[in-house]
Amino acid sequence: MEINHLSRMTIEQLTASIMEQAKEKGFGVQPGEINIPEKIALIHSEISEAFEAYRHNNIDGQDGFKEELGDALQRILHLAGVLGFDLEKEVLKKMAANKNRHWDWDKINETHA
Ligand SMILES: [Mg+2]
Repeated sequence: MEINHLSRMTIEQLTASIMEQAKEKGFGVQPGEINIPEKIALIHSEISEAFEAYRHNNIDGQDGFKEELGDALQRILHLAGVLGFDLEKEVLKKMAANKNRHWDWDKINETHA
């Protein structure tokens, strides 16, 4: 498997590539080969690393914000691949649901654009 940042993949293709590497490296490709709660915790861990990188204004560097978000996505797609989930479909479904949804930002304690 050649890993090339210039190649553009769909989410399905990226998941397939991640699963190929998971097989090569022994990360698990079947539900019985992984501990699902542990994989969820490791996704949390990558998100926390992204938060820390952002706090320290490390955006592009080693262990930086971008890299940690990539780590999180890779772990999410690995978990989805093991479980046979189509996350592209799930994202599109949520976007469609959000299309006509309204948020009352004055009642939500969250910074937004
Ligand atoms: Mg990381």
